[in-house]
Amino acid sequence: MGTYAITGSASGMGRETAQRLRGDGHTVIGVDIKDADIIADLSTPQGRKQAADGVVAASGGKLDGAVLAAGLGPIPRRDRPRQIAQVNYLGVVELLSAWRPALAAAERAKVVVVSSNSSTTIPAVPRRTVRALLAHDADKAVRSVKLFGKAAPAMMYAASKIAVSRWVRRHAVLPERAGAGVRLNALAPGAIMTPLLQEQLSTPSEAKAIWSFPIPVGAFGQAAHMADWMCFMLSDSADFLCGSIVFVDGGSDAYFRADDWPKPVPAYRLPGFLRRFRSGPHVPKDG
Ligand code: NAD
Repeated sequence: MGTYAITGSASGMGRETAQRLRGDGHTVIGVDIKDADIIADLSTPQGRKQAADGVVAASGGKLDGAVLAAGLGPIPRRDRPRQIAQVNYLGVVELLSAWRPALAAAERAKVVVVSSNSSTTIPAVPRRTVRALLAHDADKAVRSVKLFGKAAPAMMYAASKIAVSRWVRRHAVLPERAGAGVRLNALAPGAIMTPLLQEQLSTPSEAKAIWSFPIPVGAFGQAAHMADWMCFMLSDSADFLCGSIVFVDGGSDAYFRADDWPKPVPAYRLPGFLRRFRSGPHVPKDG
């Protein structure tokens, strides 16, 4: 049986996944702003440090996996862009950086970051916001969406999910993760019926956009479906899954972007790309 850290364990997808793992006999260290083993506010640097240190201590320095599900939705509130930058982006990457040694200690650890199909379906997300987040500059990211007014939270939300997905892909392949047995992947859900979506549906301007958003399968998803995917991505069956962003969104991403992906690596990137991997594939100790 393993030990797993789950942020956002008090509600929605995080809670469902925590229940599933506990039901299977695993130990779960839940992190949330309320109703959790470690109560921490991920929108502050102190809260993120408290969560990072608290999980390492509670796990005894060895983590078999982690789910990063804490997040805030894009409701039109003045302070929301900053909170989204702090919780949805820094609340993922700072914790995962702090937990890297504990994950490596398990030798076969799996991490699932909850991204979103907002990363590919929201148009005109400013690149400078994504860049500022990847540089961990929340102030700059917040300034960069100011001109969007009421749409600023939506822009920051999409930017946070793009940035976190890129961080996953960049870091998943590095020797200290892929080469250390740590599998880092992201799940990109579409609209899932959780308190986060309910909050958006009770905000008139948001509700209109959500009800008119195309979902080819014709219904919202459920937290239980996402927990199924996350438990699979945490299992040994996912040993060969590395740096993937798994879209489980009822077809919305495919509806908008059928021909955008897969896309081959552009020729101009090949020399650098090959240099990075000149050591060849990592061969696991047991094979
Ligand atoms: P949810 O609101 O049910 O759960 C989110 C959890 O994050 C809550 O328990 C909340 O307390 C916690 N949280 C929020 N702010 C926090 C803070 N400052 N510190 C600590 N914990 C905090 O929502 P959910 O739908 O289960 O969301 C899980 C993840 O899925 C989020 O990252 C969200 O962006 C993403 N997502 C949701 C949807 C959707 O339609 N529900 C779609 C795509 C992606």
